[in-house]
Amino acid sequence: MSSFSIKSVVVGPVDVNCYVLKDKATGKGAVIDPGGHVERIMSLINDMKADIAEIIITHGHFDHIGALDELRNAVGCGASIHELDAEMLLKSRKNLSIFMGTDASFRPAERLLKDGDVIRFGESFLKVIHTPGHTAGGICLYDGEKVLFSGDTLFAGSVGRSDFPGGDHYQLIESVVKALAEVKDETVVYPGHGPETGMGYERKTNPFLG
Ligand SMILES: [Zn+2]
Ligand SMILES: [Zn+2]
Repeated sequence: MSSFSIKSVVVGPVDVNCYVLKDKATGKGAVIDPGGHVERIMSLINDMKADIAEIIITHGHFDHIGALDELRNAVGCGASIHELDAEMLLKSRKNLSIFMGTDASFRPAERLLKDGDVIRFGESFLKVIHTPGHTAGGICLYDGEKVLFSGDTLFAGSVGRSDFPGGDHYQLIESVVKALAEVKDETVVYPGHGPETGMGYERKTNPFLG
């Protein structure tokens, strides 16, 4: 059974939620979406006394990966991304940084993910749910019960944009409805931007899921 603490810090040029998780039994940790401001992420990691074993990228847009190489250098572990978004790390035109005034490219991911993969840190784990539509390789991360990290797939009261290259609105809605069907109503959703929400609450009230 996963049991981990969660803290977040808002980083990067467009306010991404970077999450730091710490497995309660072992102190092993994971970082989700190091979008920028590596010094803020490192100070949260140090405050939590987390021993970071995994860096997980929900999708390859620049705002979610801006501090990826600096964080890998600082904590000495590898990063995971869905195989369909892997190239976005390497090319500023694909991760869209070139359109935000920085020509940013990153080292390749150490591990490529696909739907159903399980990422472990200590005794905790997150299951990869492939949710294409915002990007082709967008993922959500589910602990199987209480917690879902939804990247830019699902937000409180909204869903991600689908007008970027690789985006597809119909596919995105299908991802939220079908691929996330296994996520329990009582699960807390931690999105890539903005406040947390509840899966059941979104199913009832989110206008995109009606
Ligand atoms: Zn995005
Ligand atoms: Zn984003």
